[in-house]
Amino acid sequence: MKSKPANKIQDLQFFGEFGGVNPSISDSSTYTFLSANSMSETFEGNTEGCYLYSRNSSPSNLYLEDACAAMEGTEAANVFSSGMGAITSTILQFCKSGDHVISSRTVYGGTYAFLKNFTPQLGIETNFVDITSIEAIKKSIKPNTKIIYCEVSSNPLLEIADLETISKVAKNNNIKLIVDNTFTPLSISPANFGADVVIHSLTKFINGTSDTIAGVVCSSTEFIHSLRDVNDGAFMLMGATMDSLRAASVLKNMRTLHIRIKKHSENAMYLANAFEKDGIKTVYPGLKSHPSHEVFTKMMNEEYGYGGMVTIDVGSLEKANKLMEKLQDKNIGYLAVSLGFYKTLFCAPGSSTSSEISESEQEQMGLSEGLIRFSVGLDQDIERTYLAIRECLKEFKLL
Ligand code: PLP
Repeated sequence: MKSKPANKIQDLQFFGEFGGVNPSISDSSTYTFLSANSMSETFEGNTEGCYLYSRNSSPSNLYLEDACAAMEGTEAANVFSSGMGAITSTILQFCKSGDHVISSRTVYGGTYAFLKNFTPQLGIETNFVDITSIEAIKKSIKPNTKIIYCEVSSNPLLEIADLETISKVAKNNNIKLIVDNTFTPLSISPANFGADVVIHSLTKFINGTSDTIAGVVCSSTEFIHSLRDVNDGAFMLMGATMDSLRAASVLKNMRTLHIRIKKHSENAMYLANAFEKDGIKTVYPGLKSHPSHEVFTKMMNEEYGYGGMVTIDVGSLEKANKLMEKLQDKNIGYLAVSLGFYKTLFCAPGSSTSSEISESEQEQMGLSEGLIRFSVGLDQDIERTYLAIRECLKEFKLL
Protein backbone atom coordinates (compact mmCIF):
# COMPACT_ATOMS: atom_id res chain seq x y z
CA MET A 1 0.00 0.00 0.00
CA LYS A 2 1.21 3.51 -0.80
CA SER A 3 2.08 5.55 2.28
CA LYS A 4 -0.18 8.33 3.50
CA PRO A 5 2.29 10.98 4.61
CA ALA A 6 -0.36 13.55 5.64
CA ASN A 7 -1.81 11.04 8.14
CA LYS A 8 1.54 10.92 9.85
CA ILE A 9 1.51 14.70 10.29
CA GLN A 10 -2.11 14.59 11.51
CA ASP A 11 -1.29 11.92 14.09
CA LEU A 12 1.33 13.97 15.88
CA GLN A 13 0.09 15.33 19.20
CA PHE A 14 1.80 18.46 20.50
CA PHE A 15 0.52 20.44 23.47
CA GLY A 16 1.55 23.90 24.55
CA GLU A 17 2.97 24.54 28.00
CA PHE A 18 -0.44 25.45 29.48
CA GLY A 19 -2.41 22.89 27.53
CA GLY A 20 -2.46 25.08 24.43
CA VAL A 21 -3.43 23.43 21.15
CA ASN A 22 -0.23 24.77 19.61
CA PRO A 23 3.16 24.01 21.10
CA SER A 24 4.69 26.84 23.10
CA ILE A 25 7.35 28.86 21.33
CA SER A 26 10.75 28.70 22.97
CA ASP A 27 11.79 32.32 22.88
CA SER A 28 15.33 31.73 24.12
CA SER A 29 18.74 31.47 22.56
CA THR A 30 20.27 29.70 25.54
CA TYR A 31 19.13 27.28 28.27
CA THR A 32 19.86 26.77 31.92
CA PHE A 33 21.31 23.58 33.38
CA LEU A 34 20.58 22.30 36.87
CA SER A 35 24.08 20.93 37.17
CA ALA A 36 27.41 21.85 35.59
CA ASN A 37 27.96 18.20 34.80
CA SER A 38 24.89 17.94 32.58
CA MET A 39 26.11 21.03 30.68
CA SER A 40 29.39 19.35 29.73
CA GLU A 41 27.58 16.10 28.86
CA THR A 42 25.22 17.99 26.58
CA PHE A 43 28.20 19.50 24.77
CA GLU A 44 29.39 15.99 24.13
CA GLY A 45 25.96 15.18 22.67
CA ASN A 46 25.03 12.76 25.45
CA THR A 47 22.04 14.30 27.20
CA GLU A 48 18.62 13.52 25.76
CA GLY A 49 16.06 16.28 26.30
CA CYS A 50 18.57 18.99 27.25
CA TYR A 51 19.03 22.05 25.10
CA LEU A 52 22.35 23.69 24.71
CA TYR A 53 22.04 26.73 22.56
CA SER A 54 19.45 27.46 19.89
CA ARG A 55 21.90 27.31 16.98
CA ASN A 56 22.20 23.61 17.81
CA SER A 57 18.51 22.90 18.45
CA SER A 58 15.47 24.36 20.14
CA PRO A 59 12.12 22.91 21.28
CA SER A 60 10.16 24.83 18.61
CA ASN A 61 12.44 23.61 15.85
CA LEU A 62 12.10 20.04 17.11
CA TYR A 63 8.31 20.13 16.69
CA LEU A 64 8.67 21.17 13.07
CA GLU A 65 11.43 18.60 12.59
CA ASP A 66 9.14 15.85 13.96
CA ALA A 67 6.45 16.87 11.47
CA CYS A 68 8.91 16.89 8.53
CA ALA A 69 10.36 13.51 9.50
CA ALA A 70 6.83 12.09 9.86
CA MET A 71 5.90 13.40 6.43
CA GLU A 72 8.97 11.92 4.76
CA GLY A 73 9.00 8.69 6.78
CA THR A 74 12.55 9.23 8.03
CA GLU A 75 13.90 8.74 11.54
CA ALA A 76 14.76 12.40 12.05
CA ALA A 77 14.99 15.84 10.48
CA ASN A 78 16.80 19.13 10.94
CA VAL A 79 15.37 22.48 9.93
CA PHE A 80 17.47 25.26 8.42
CA SER A 81 17.09 28.97 7.75
CA SER A 82 16.93 28.23 3.99
CA GLY A 83 16.72 25.45 1.47
CA MET A 84 20.24 26.34 0.33
CA GLY A 85 21.42 26.06 3.94
CA ALA A 86 20.00 22.52 3.99
CA ILE A 87 21.56 21.62 0.62
CA THR A 88 25.02 23.05 1.19
CA SER A 89 25.31 21.63 4.72
CA THR A 90 24.30 18.16 3.52
CA ILE A 91 26.75 18.16 0.63
CA LEU A 92 29.60 19.40 2.81
CA GLN A 93 28.79 16.90 5.54
CA PHE A 94 29.25 14.03 3.08
CA CYS A 95 32.01 15.38 0.85
CA LYS A 96 35.53 16.42 1.71
CA SER A 97 38.47 17.50 -0.44
CA GLY A 98 39.19 14.83 -3.07
CA ASP A 99 35.60 13.55 -3.19
CA HIS A 100 33.37 13.36 -6.23
CA VAL A 101 29.68 14.16 -6.74
CA ILE A 102 27.26 13.03 -9.45
CA SER A 103 24.49 15.57 -9.88
CA SER A 104 21.52 15.83 -12.15
CA ARG A 105 22.30 18.52 -14.71
CA THR A 106 18.86 20.03 -14.18
CA VAL A 107 18.75 21.18 -10.60
CA TYR A 108 17.84 24.52 -9.03
CA GLY A 109 20.28 27.22 -10.23
CA GLY A 110 21.67 27.87 -6.74
CA THR A 111 22.46 24.19 -6.23
CA TYR A 112 24.04 24.05 -9.67
CA ALA A 113 26.20 27.10 -8.94
CA PHE A 114 27.28 25.65 -5.58
CA LEU A 115 28.44 22.41 -7.21
CA LYS A 116 29.83 24.01 -10.35
CA ASN A 117 31.61 27.06 -8.91
CA PHE A 118 31.90 26.82 -5.15
CA THR A 119 32.74 23.24 -4.15
CA PRO A 120 35.62 22.88 -6.68
CA GLN A 121 37.40 25.52 -4.55
CA LEU A 122 37.23 22.98 -1.72
CA GLY A 123 38.55 20.15 -3.89
CA ILE A 124 35.14 18.58 -4.54
CA GLU A 125 34.43 17.82 -8.21
CA THR A 126 31.01 17.25 -9.78
CA ASN A 127 29.86 15.49 -12.92
CA PHE A 128 26.50 16.75 -14.17
CA VAL A 129 24.46 14.04 -15.91
CA ASP A 130 21.08 13.48 -17.51
CA ILE A 131 19.39 11.97 -14.45
CA THR A 132 16.88 10.08 -16.60
CA SER A 133 19.77 8.06 -18.09
CA ILE A 134 20.83 5.30 -15.70
CA GLU A 135 23.70 4.50 -18.08
CA ALA A 136 24.99 8.08 -17.78
CA ILE A 137 24.88 7.80 -13.97
CA LYS A 138 26.68 4.45 -13.96
CA LYS A 139 29.35 5.71 -16.35
CA SER A 140 30.10 8.69 -14.11
CA ILE A 141 30.76 6.66 -10.98
CA LYS A 142 34.36 6.90 -9.75
CA PRO A 143 36.07 5.25 -6.78
CA ASN A 144 35.81 8.59 -4.90
CA THR A 145 32.11 9.26 -5.69
CA LYS A 146 30.37 10.02 -2.39
CA ILE A 147 26.90 11.21 -3.39
CA ILE A 148 24.34 11.22 -6.17
CA TYR A 149 22.29 14.42 -6.01
CA CYS A 150 19.00 15.00 -7.79
CA GLU A 151 15.56 16.58 -7.58
CA VAL A 152 12.52 14.29 -7.85
CA SER A 153 11.02 16.64 -10.40
CA SER A 154 13.74 18.91 -11.65
CA ASN A 155 13.72 22.68 -11.62
CA PRO A 156 12.69 23.90 -14.17
CA LEU A 157 12.52 21.10 -16.76
CA LEU A 158 10.35 18.76 -14.66
CA GLU A 159 12.53 15.78 -15.52
CA ILE A 160 11.65 12.91 -13.20
CA ALA A 161 14.27 10.87 -11.35
CA ASP A 162 13.51 7.15 -11.17
CA LEU A 163 14.44 6.92 -7.51
CA GLU A 164 14.14 3.17 -7.10
CA THR A 165 16.58 2.45 -9.91
CA ILE A 166 18.99 5.23 -8.98
CA SER A 167 19.05 4.19 -5.32
CA LYS A 168 19.91 0.61 -6.30
CA VAL A 169 22.88 1.87 -8.32
CA ALA A 170 23.88 4.09 -5.40
CA LYS A 171 23.66 1.29 -2.82
CA ASN A 172 25.59 -1.16 -5.01
CA ASN A 173 28.42 1.35 -5.17
CA ASN A 174 28.30 2.52 -1.56
CA ILE A 175 27.16 5.99 -2.58
CA LYS A 176 24.54 8.09 -0.75
CA LEU A 177 21.48 9.28 -2.64
CA ILE A 178 20.36 12.83 -1.80
CA VAL A 179 17.01 13.94 -3.16
CA ASP A 180 15.49 17.43 -3.23
CA ASN A 181 11.72 16.95 -2.99
CA THR A 182 10.77 20.65 -3.02
CA PHE A 183 8.53 20.38 -6.11
CA THR A 184 6.62 17.29 -4.99
CA PRO A 185 5.94 17.20 -1.24
CA LEU A 186 3.40 14.51 -0.21
CA SER A 187 3.06 13.35 -3.85
CA ILE A 188 6.37 11.51 -3.67
CA SER A 189 8.06 9.99 -0.60
CA PRO A 190 11.69 9.54 -1.73
CA ALA A 191 12.82 7.65 1.39
CA ASN A 192 10.41 4.83 0.44
CA PHE A 193 12.48 4.36 -2.70
CA GLY A 194 15.84 4.31 -1.00
CA ALA A 195 16.85 7.99 -0.76
CA ASP A 196 19.29 8.43 2.14
CA VAL A 197 18.54 12.13 2.56
CA VAL A 198 15.43 14.07 1.54
CA ILE A 199 15.70 17.86 1.36
CA HIS A 200 13.03 20.53 1.01
CA SER A 201 13.11 24.22 0.52
CA LEU A 202 10.29 24.85 3.04
CA THR A 203 10.05 28.29 1.46
CA LYS A 204 7.85 26.78 -1.25
CA PHE A 205 4.78 24.52 -1.02
CA ILE A 206 5.29 23.34 2.55
CA ASN A 207 5.11 26.80 4.10
CA GLY A 208 2.91 27.97 1.26
CA THR A 209 2.52 31.63 2.19
CA SER A 210 5.66 33.11 0.58
CA ASP A 211 6.52 34.91 3.82
CA THR A 212 9.79 33.20 4.73
CA ILE A 213 12.88 31.39 3.54
CA ALA A 214 13.37 28.00 5.20
CA GLY A 215 14.65 24.48 4.62
CA VAL A 216 14.84 20.98 6.05
CA VAL A 217 16.94 17.82 5.82
CA CYS A 218 15.15 14.54 6.58
CA SER A 219 17.32 11.48 7.16
CA SER A 220 18.57 8.89 9.67
CA THR A 221 19.10 9.91 13.30
CA GLU A 222 22.79 9.23 12.77
CA PHE A 223 23.10 11.68 9.89
CA ILE A 224 21.05 14.38 11.62
CA HIS A 225 23.26 14.06 14.70
CA SER A 226 26.34 14.36 12.52
CA LEU A 227 25.01 17.66 11.07
CA ARG A 228 24.56 19.00 14.63
CA ASP A 229 27.87 17.81 16.01
CA VAL A 230 29.64 20.64 17.83
CA ASN A 231 33.03 19.53 16.49
CA ASP A 232 32.40 18.86 12.81
CA GLY A 233 28.70 19.28 12.04
CA ALA A 234 28.07 21.42 8.94
CA PHE A 235 24.76 22.69 10.34
CA MET A 236 26.17 23.57 13.75
CA LEU A 237 29.35 25.16 12.42
CA MET A 238 28.00 27.05 9.40
CA GLY A 239 25.02 28.20 11.43
CA ALA A 240 22.09 28.21 8.99
CA THR A 241 19.68 27.93 11.91
CA MET A 242 15.95 28.59 11.76
CA ASP A 243 14.48 30.98 14.30
CA SER A 244 12.01 29.44 16.79
CA LEU A 245 9.24 31.93 15.98
CA ARG A 246 9.49 31.01 12.32
CA ALA A 247 9.55 27.28 13.05
CA ALA A 248 6.25 27.67 14.92
CA SER A 249 4.64 29.49 12.00
CA VAL A 250 5.88 27.02 9.35
CA LEU A 251 4.48 24.15 11.45
CA LYS A 252 1.05 25.79 11.54
CA ASN A 253 1.05 26.24 7.76
CA MET A 254 2.23 22.68 7.20
CA ARG A 255 -0.97 21.29 8.70
CA THR A 256 -2.95 22.33 5.64
CA LEU A 257 -0.37 21.10 3.14
CA HIS A 258 -2.42 18.07 2.04
CA ILE A 259 -5.41 20.23 1.12
CA ARG A 260 -3.26 22.75 -0.72
CA ILE A 261 -1.23 20.17 -2.64
CA LYS A 262 -4.39 18.46 -3.90
CA LYS A 263 -5.69 21.79 -5.18
CA HIS A 264 -2.37 22.85 -6.71
CA SER A 265 -2.22 19.49 -8.50
CA GLU A 266 -5.84 19.60 -9.65
CA ASN A 267 -5.42 23.11 -11.08
CA ALA A 268 -2.06 22.30 -12.70
CA MET A 269 -3.53 19.20 -14.33
CA TYR A 270 -6.43 21.24 -15.70
CA LEU A 271 -4.16 23.92 -17.18
CA ALA A 272 -1.63 21.40 -18.57
CA ASN A 273 -4.40 19.46 -20.34
CA ALA A 274 -5.95 22.62 -21.72
CA PHE A 275 -2.62 24.08 -22.94
CA GLU A 276 -1.70 20.80 -24.59
CA LYS A 277 -5.07 20.59 -26.34
CA ASP A 278 -4.48 24.12 -27.60
CA GLY A 279 -1.25 22.92 -29.24
CA ILE A 280 1.10 24.72 -26.83
CA LYS A 281 4.33 22.91 -25.96
CA THR A 282 3.51 21.86 -22.41
CA VAL A 283 5.46 19.83 -19.86
CA TYR A 284 3.67 18.32 -16.84
CA PRO A 285 4.36 14.91 -15.30
CA GLY A 286 0.61 14.23 -15.20
CA LEU A 287 0.38 14.35 -19.01
CA LYS A 288 0.71 11.04 -20.84
CA SER A 289 3.04 12.86 -23.25
CA HIS A 290 5.59 13.43 -20.45
CA PRO A 291 8.50 11.03 -21.07
CA SER A 292 8.52 9.99 -17.38
CA HIS A 293 4.76 9.92 -16.80
CA GLU A 294 4.90 6.21 -15.97
CA VAL A 295 7.87 6.63 -13.63
CA PHE A 296 6.08 9.37 -11.67
CA THR A 297 2.82 7.39 -11.58
CA LYS A 298 4.61 4.33 -10.23
CA MET A 299 6.17 6.33 -7.38
CA MET A 300 3.35 8.70 -6.45
CA ASN A 301 1.04 8.80 -3.45
CA GLU A 302 -1.93 9.00 -5.75
CA GLU A 303 -4.29 11.28 -3.87
CA TYR A 304 -1.91 14.26 -4.00
CA GLY A 305 -1.56 14.29 -7.78
CA TYR A 306 1.33 15.30 -10.00
CA GLY A 307 2.15 18.58 -8.27
CA GLY A 308 1.65 22.24 -9.00
CA MET A 309 4.46 22.93 -11.48
CA VAL A 310 3.83 23.24 -15.23
CA THR A 311 5.98 24.66 -18.02
CA ILE A 312 5.08 25.94 -21.46
CA ASP A 313 7.37 27.06 -24.26
CA VAL A 314 6.31 30.13 -26.19
CA GLY A 315 9.35 30.23 -28.49
CA SER A 316 11.37 33.26 -27.42
CA LEU A 317 12.27 35.28 -24.34
CA GLU A 318 10.63 38.36 -25.85
CA LYS A 319 7.31 36.56 -26.23
CA ALA A 320 7.64 34.99 -22.79
CA ASN A 321 8.28 38.39 -21.19
CA LYS A 322 5.36 40.04 -22.97
CA LEU A 323 3.01 37.23 -22.01
CA MET A 324 4.09 37.22 -18.36
CA GLU A 325 3.70 40.99 -18.06
CA LYS A 326 0.21 40.69 -19.51
CA LEU A 327 -0.74 37.83 -17.19
CA GLN A 328 0.29 39.96 -14.22
CA ASP A 329 -1.53 42.96 -15.63
CA LYS A 330 -4.71 40.88 -15.79
CA ASN A 331 -4.12 39.69 -12.21
CA ILE A 332 -3.90 36.06 -13.27
CA GLY A 333 -0.79 35.68 -11.15
CA TYR A 334 2.52 37.34 -10.29
CA LEU A 335 5.70 37.65 -12.32
CA ALA A 336 7.90 36.33 -9.54
CA VAL A 337 10.35 33.55 -8.80
CA SER A 338 9.61 30.91 -6.16
CA LEU A 339 6.64 28.57 -5.92
CA GLY A 340 3.87 27.19 -3.78
CA PHE A 341 1.92 30.43 -3.23
CA TYR A 342 -1.90 30.72 -3.35
CA LYS A 343 -1.52 32.92 -6.44
CA THR A 344 0.01 31.53 -9.59
CA LEU A 345 3.67 32.59 -9.92
CA PHE A 346 5.51 32.58 -13.22
CA CYS A 347 8.99 33.30 -14.50
CA ALA A 348 11.26 32.52 -17.44
CA PRO A 349 13.88 30.36 -15.67
CA GLY A 350 16.53 30.71 -18.41
CA SER A 351 17.01 34.36 -17.48
CA SER A 352 16.12 34.12 -13.78
CA THR A 353 16.15 31.08 -11.47
CA SER A 354 18.52 29.12 -13.74
CA SER A 355 20.60 32.05 -15.02
CA GLU A 356 23.60 30.58 -13.16
CA ILE A 357 23.67 27.91 -15.88
CA SER A 358 25.56 29.13 -18.97
CA GLU A 359 23.65 29.65 -22.22
CA SER A 360 25.42 26.78 -23.97
CA GLU A 361 24.67 24.40 -21.10
CA GLN A 362 21.05 25.56 -21.03
CA GLU A 363 20.83 24.74 -24.71
CA GLN A 364 22.38 21.31 -24.20
CA MET A 365 19.89 20.38 -21.48
CA GLY A 366 16.93 21.67 -23.49
CA LEU A 367 16.22 24.75 -21.38
CA SER A 368 14.98 27.18 -24.00
CA GLU A 369 14.69 30.92 -23.41
CA GLY A 370 10.97 30.92 -24.21
CA LEU A 371 10.21 28.48 -21.40
CA ILE A 372 7.79 29.80 -18.78
CA ARG A 373 7.56 28.02 -15.45
CA PHE A 374 4.20 28.22 -13.68
CA SER A 375 3.65 27.44 -10.04
CA VAL A 376 -0.10 27.03 -10.35
CA GLY A 377 -2.08 28.66 -7.55
CA LEU A 378 -5.07 27.64 -5.49
CA ASP A 379 -7.61 29.32 -7.78
CA GLN A 380 -11.15 28.37 -6.87
CA ASP A 381 -12.28 28.59 -10.51
CA ILE A 382 -9.48 27.31 -12.73
CA GLU A 383 -11.64 27.31 -15.85
CA ARG A 384 -12.09 31.07 -15.48
CA THR A 385 -8.30 31.40 -15.04
CA TYR A 386 -7.68 29.32 -18.14
CA LEU A 387 -10.05 31.41 -20.25
CA ALA A 388 -8.29 34.58 -19.07
CA ILE A 389 -4.87 33.09 -19.97
CA ARG A 390 -6.26 32.08 -23.34
CA GLU A 391 -7.21 35.68 -24.08
CA CYS A 392 -3.63 36.76 -23.37
CA LEU A 393 -2.19 33.96 -25.55
CA LYS A 394 -4.49 35.02 -28.38
CA GLU A 395 -3.50 38.66 -28.04
CA PHE A 396 0.15 37.73 -28.69
CA LYS A 397 -0.80 35.31 -31.47
CA LEU A 398 0.45 32.35 -29.47
CA LEU A 399 -2.76 30.45 -30.22
N1 PLP B 1 15.54 23.51 -4.20
C1 PLP B 1 14.70 23.90 -5.17
C2 PLP B 1 14.10 22.87 -6.07
C3 PLP B 1 14.39 25.26 -5.31
O1 PLP B 1 13.54 25.64 -6.28
C4 PLP B 1 15.00 26.20 -4.44
C5 PLP B 1 14.71 27.66 -4.55
O2 PLP B 1 14.18 28.15 -5.48
C6 PLP B 1 15.88 25.74 -3.47
C7 PLP B 1 16.12 24.40 -3.37
C8 PLP B 1 16.55 26.70 -2.52
O3 PLP B 1 15.73 27.02 -1.47
P1 PLP B 1 15.78 28.40 -0.65
O4 PLP B 1 15.46 29.50 -1.60
O5 PLP B 1 14.77 28.18 0.43
O6 PLP B 1 17.16 28.54 -0.09
